[in-house]
Amino acid sequence: MTRRIAMLSVHACPLAKLGGRDSGGMNVYVRELARDLGARGHRVDVFTRWREKDDPRIQPLGPNGRVIHIQSGPLGYWPKMAVFEHLDEFTEKLIAEVEQEQRSYDVIHAHYWLSAKVARTLEERWRVPVVQMFHTLGLVKREVMDEDIDGESDIRTEIERESVRKSAAIVAASHIELGELRRLYRADPAKVAVIPCGVDPNVFHPIRQADARELLGRDQCERLILFVGRIEQIKGIDVLLRALALLFFRHPDLRKEVCLLVVGGALDPGDDAPETEKIVELRRLVHEHRMEANVAFVGSRDQEQLALYYAAADLCAVPSLTESFGLVALEAMACGTPVVGTRVGGLQTVIADGESGLLVPAGDYQALADAIARVLTDARLRMHLAHGARERAERFTWHHVGDLVSDLYERILAGRAEEIRA
Ligand code: UDP
Repeated sequence: MTRRIAMLSVHACPLAKLGGRDSGGMNVYVRELARDLGARGHRVDVFTRWREKDDPRIQPLGPNGRVIHIQSGPLGYWPKMAVFEHLDEFTEKLIAEVEQEQRSYDVIHAHYWLSAKVARTLEERWRVPVVQMFHTLGLVKREVMDEDIDGESDIRTEIERESVRKSAAIVAASHIELGELRRLYRADPAKVAVIPCGVDPNVFHPIRQADARELLGRDQCERLILFVGRIEQIKGIDVLLRALALLFFRHPDLRKEVCLLVVGGALDPGDDAPETEKIVELRRLVHEHRMEANVAFVGSRDQEQLALYYAAADLCAVPSLTESFGLVALEAMACGTPVVGTRVGGLQTVIADGESGLLVPAGDYQALADAIARVLTDARLRMHLAHGARERAERFTWHHVGDLVSDLYERILAGRAEEIRA
């Protein structure tokens, strides 16, 4: 049955440039899910904050899908708490727009805690069930971060708790997240559907390493480690840099051969600084360890280019302190590149340790250095993991995600909440 879906993604526009500040996996998730649902005939409107002045107010997104930019507060990049301050304005404008045109929706699908707040007002006003996906949980983040760098903790937790109580269903990206929702938020497991994320095999597929390196202008003989993602504390890049320094200390011969490419970290068009503060801080760490010749910050790349980077690399490092799913790991695997990741959140469900990659404890640069050394120096292990990675990635498709999400909509609309848990 065709459904009308109001998708709320307040701070993550599905059409945004990826890898910059606050734009990464969630933007990809909303984009791919909306496209898949639209291709099934559902009508999907994604409501998001208007951030880039050159973006048209309404943009098409696949068949039957649209992105509707709502101006709330000033345009441009704003930290999340500044976006939060303008949520009431966002909600009021959204309601005015929808009601003026006499549109209505069957389901509200909200992403992240900021959208959860908007969803509360809409569910009461429109009497429409809410499906919530958090992508990252504030209390999980608090467990791993030394400080509340975004200054959001208490407000965020309160909104998340309310959302867990009131939403008709919650989507968790893995059974680990389901456990966190139960342990930290007392979620009713009957309301939680575990739906893993996907990867687009048309974009991320194996390419001959030599071809990818030639296209990127890289040396065929170097050993390439790749990092891809937002350049933020939570991604553990400083741990990776310490691991690299230790690797060179233990294997001085590798200093001449190994290069770490850090992809991500775009600035916004309005920024006046040449790089984000975090990159400047990481560069200092690189300098301290005399690794300037071994580490390159290449900036953000679009996903077609990223496929070349994954294919060119000998391994992809995902040293995150926490990760609700970890699309980068899955994309690397789909390209046949072994992943060395941390044993946290969804990464544990994406990477099969010893089969499609290696898992190490988060924050442990010694274990990370060991694992990287094993993959770089043992060609048989590398081939075994590359093969396993490709095979494992095949089971994660956006089409499968779309199947499970549409099925979830039907079940909540039929009022069978007790059957939601997949
Ligand atoms: N990404 C990109 N270009 C970049 C950096 C990242 O397209 O320069 C994309 C990457 O392909 C992936 C997403 O951003 O799909 C990051 O998702 P992930 O789940 O790994 O991390 P999150 O951003 O959700 O923490």
